[in-house]
Amino acid sequence: MDEAACKGMDTRIFFPGSEGEHSNFDAMAICSGCPVQAECLEAGLWEAQGVWGMTSERQRRKIRKGRRDLEAPIVWNFQKGRAAQ
Ligand code: SF4
Repeated sequence: MDEAACKGMDTRIFFPGSEGEHSNFDAMAICSGCPVQAECLEAGLWEAQGVWGMTSERQRRKIRKGRRDLEAPIVWNFQKGRAAQ
């Protein structure tokens, strides 16, 4: 990703908490103007640590959960009046 806003930067900025110098907001401020944000998020969606595509670990967990829910859509059982199991 040659156009990445973080190209050439110290990657520790994107892994806040390890040394207490940075916060997620420092990284996200850089990400906010990045033209490859979407690609970065896809690349880092399953990463357990760091800021990827302007998302925190917690935000990526929510995105993954949302996608899992979409992959297993609720099928409504009209006869029983509840979601089919
Ligand atoms: S979105 Fe990804 S590629 Fe862009 S600045 Fe943030 S960490 Fe770097």
